[in-house]
Parts: sequence; C-alpha cells; structure tokens
Amino acid sequence: MGKSTTPPDVTHVDLAGHGESARAYSSPLPRLTKRVFSDLAIWMTGLGLIMGLAFPLFVVALGVPGRYVLTPKFFVATIGAGLIVGAANHFLSRVVVRSRLQFMRSKMATVEETLRESAFSDMSDRCTPQKCSIPVDSEDELGAVVASFNRLVEAQAASHRATVVASQFASVLSSHIELTPLIEASLRSLQSAGNFSASGLCLVRDGELTTVGTNGITDIDGLATSDLVSRAYRTLDMIELDLPEELRLDGGVVGFRPRSVVAYPLHIRLVPIGVIVLASTEPAVPEELQLIRQLLPNLAVALNNALSHERLQRVAAIDPLTGLYNRRFGLERLSQDFGRSVRSKEPLGAVLFDIDRFKAVNDTYGHEAGDQVLKAVADAVKEVLREGDTLMRYGGEEFLAILPGAGDADIGQLGERIRRVVESTTVMVGQQSISVTTSLGAVSFPSVNVTDMDDLIRQADTAMYEAKSAGRNRLIFAAA
Ligand code: GH3
Ligand code: MG
Ligand code: MG
Repeated sequence: MGKSTTPPDVTHVDLAGHGESARAYSSPLPRLTKRVFSDLAIWMTGLGLIMGLAFPLFVVALGVPGRYVLTPKFFVATIGAGLIVGAANHFLSRVVVRSRLQFMRSKMATVEETLRESAFSDMSDRCTPQKCSIPVDSEDELGAVVASFNRLVEAQAASHRATVVASQFASVLSSHIELTPLIEASLRSLQSAGNFSASGLCLVRDGELTTVGTNGITDIDGLATSDLVSRAYRTLDMIELDLPEELRLDGGVVGFRPRSVVAYPLHIRLVPIGVIVLASTEPAVPEELQLIRQLLPNLAVALNNALSHERLQRVAAIDPLTGLYNRRFGLERLSQDFGRSVRSKEPLGAVLFDIDRFKAVNDTYGHEAGDQVLKAVADAVKEVLREGDTLMRYGGEEFLAILPGAGDADIGQLGERIRRVVESTTVMVGQQSISVTTSLGAVSFPSVNVTDMDDLIRQADTAMYEAKSAGRNRLIFAAA
C-alpha cells in the first residue's frame, strides 16, 4: 500500500554508429563496464608502480653497481616509466575492448527492443535471425559471450513460440463444444503448430476405437485398426516411425508415403480415449514433438467433454424405446425445416400416424409386447424414409415424419409406403404373431395454406382423425 515503484531508467543509445537512437532500458552493463575499467586502471597503476620499484633492484641483480641505480632520481624515473606503460596499456584496452563492448551493447539493445515489441505477437514474424542475433566476429571470450547471448535469445524465442502456440490452442479448444468442429479445428491447429502435412484422430466411441477425423490421410478406414494406432493406444506411449509403410497421404491425384509419422495416445488419468496421428513429409523435429506432447492433455480433456456433451445431447434427443428423435428434439428439427422451406419456397411434407387399436395389443399381449411392436414399427418405418427425412416419436403410439423437399406426389408415395410397411411388420411373442395397422394424416406445404408449425401439425392431426373415422389403415391428406 502506497508503495511507489521506480520507473525504469531509460537511456538513449546510438545503435552501432548508425545515428539511430533506440530506447533502451538501463541494464547493469554500463556501471559494470565502468567498474571493470576503473579496476583495470588501479591494476595498471599498481603494476606500473611495482615495475618502477622493482626495476632498479632487477638491474642491480644483473650486476650494475647499486650506486648508479639505487638513487631517488632513478627510482622516480623507473616509477614514472612504469606508470606510463600502465597508462598506455589501460588506454589501449579501453580503445579496443570498450569499443567492442559498446558495439555488443548496442546490438543487445536492438534485440531487447525487438523481443519486447514481439512479446504479445508471434515472435517469428519480427524476431528474424538478422534482427535477433549478434554476429560472432571473434574466437575470444567476447565472441563466446555473443554466441551465448544468441543462444539465449533462441531459447527465449522457442519458449515464447511454445507459449503462443499453447495459448492459441487453448482458445481453439475452448471455442468448440460440439465434437466435429472441435476435431477439425484441433487437427488444423496441431498440424500448423508442428508443421505437419496430415493428421488423423481416432476416438473410442461405443466401446470401439474409430477414426473420427482426418486431414490429408488417404486410407481413412484402416487408420483406427492400423498397427501404429493400436500400439499407441495399447501402450500409452508415443510411437514415432520413419517412412511408415501403412500410411499414405493425400497428394491430390496420387497418394504418397510420409517421411515421418507420430502417434500420440490420448488419455484421461491413464484411461485411453483415443490416438492422434500426425504425419510429415520431413523428418520429425524433437522440439516440435515435445511441443505437441504438451498440448495433448488439454486436447484429451476437451475431446472427452465433447464426447460427454454428445452423449448428453443424444440422451436428451433420443427416445430410449424406439431410438427415434423424441418430440422435443423432433419439433426443433421440424421448426428448422419449416423455416427453411418458408424461406426457400421448397415444399415440405409432414405425415402424422398413429397405430390403430393399440390399446387392444397391450390388453391382449401385455405392455412389454406392445413395446416390442412400437420398436418394430419404428425400425420398419425408418427403412422406408429417404435420407434427410426425420422421424420422431410424437406421442405414445403416434409418430411424425418430416419430409423436406417432398411434393404432393412424394408425400402420397411415402405415406403409402409407411402404411404398407407397418401393416406387414409382425412381432412374435411366444408362438403368437402380432401385427398392427396405422392411420395417417398428411400435409403438404405450401399446397396447403399453413400459418405456422403448430398449424401444420394441427392440420395433419385433423387429417389423421379423418383417417381413423373413415375406417383406419389409410392415408388422408389435409384439404388444400
Ligand atoms: P386408435 O385406433 O383410436 O388409435 O386406438 P388406440 O387403442 O390406439 O388408442 P388409445 O389412445 O385408446 O390407446 C393408445 C394406447 O397406447 C394406450 C397406451 O397404453 C398405449 N401406449 C402408449 N405409449 C405406450 C408405450 O410406450 N408402450 C406401450 N406398450 N403402450 C403404449
Ligand atoms: Mg392409436
Ligand atoms: Mg394415439
């Protein structure tokens, strides 16, 4: 509280003599340089003094009579000479070493500036080798310092890249809850994180390892059962192969073999949930493999959540007895199909049908037998519908078929097929064979004037009750 922070000491330095002024945060380097050079000056002066003091004694040791050299005058002269040599040494080291240090310092300031600017962006865009490294121009200690600095910057750039990739990947994972878009987006993202040219994902679904998404792999069916995927799944170990035989990549017209492929197991607390396969036309790069490995625990959790979400959606949408859409979900589909039909002026058909005298089936054969009949009717009707049609369990023994794009003639044909298939479906209960019939009410939009979705169902219902009144086991169209 009330604690003040001192702003960084900002100085301006001339970069490498280009007259370019860069903002650089003061580092311990200038003060340290001063210390080194003042220490050097003390050492040089001391050395000059020692040399000056020792020289006359050295001369005496060589045999020159002491009376010539051990005089105050000679001592002053030799000490003076020693100090001059020391000062010259100091001056030269300042000129040579300091200018190199200053050059290094200005380069480091540029690199520092670039690193700061790219802290919140993709560093590879800005931190090019030219901008983020200092040329090593000598084999001495200073050259070694520069080389170490360059390696430090490289390590920093790699760690920054890993952070950017991880944060981008986290945002991909958090922006999808549905399984299919999550798979597509995460495969794309992993491929670009590691420069892979193809990818595939196998997940455990309904107890079986199934290929749920691929990008650029040709033999999709064989992927989940391939030795590579099975081994990764079984052992929970990453499997890396060079020139794998069993995998081919999509090369446009012809498939080709990747140079390297890696299969990572996905697990939640060591319970396997799937395997991700990444293939490259280049040899694998250990750093990239390591980076991908770090992203996988979050991917496993996101995929597991999406699988749970899918299961919940299924439970919420599917009628457990017949496996058809339930009324709530089915009506949502009808609302979408009806809205699309209104907008596009494409026709839409709806057929509501109810099993005739079903109460008697329950009363005669029991509720369980009745359930079996409902299931058999649902299975049989599903078979006669076209792709894109929706069948829902609208009520107890009442079903609604939505037929997008179906005109009057199509609806008539489909309705009749439903009637016939129900009539011919039999369920065996012990030695007894049960069969039922159904009465159907059909609406064709826009042939019939319909105000909204509820009106559409109301008109189908009216037509169906007309079919009941007219003797059952028949199809009646709502009046245009
Ligand atoms: P109608 O020809 O007029 O439709 O006669 P119905 O007997 O089919 O009509 P009703 O509405 O009187 O009887 C429908 C019966 O369907 C009553 C109900 O017990 C039965 N039912 C509804 N849902 C289920 C179910 O899930 N399982 C079984 N076994 N029977 C069901
Ligand atoms: Mg009925
Ligand atoms: Mg009924």
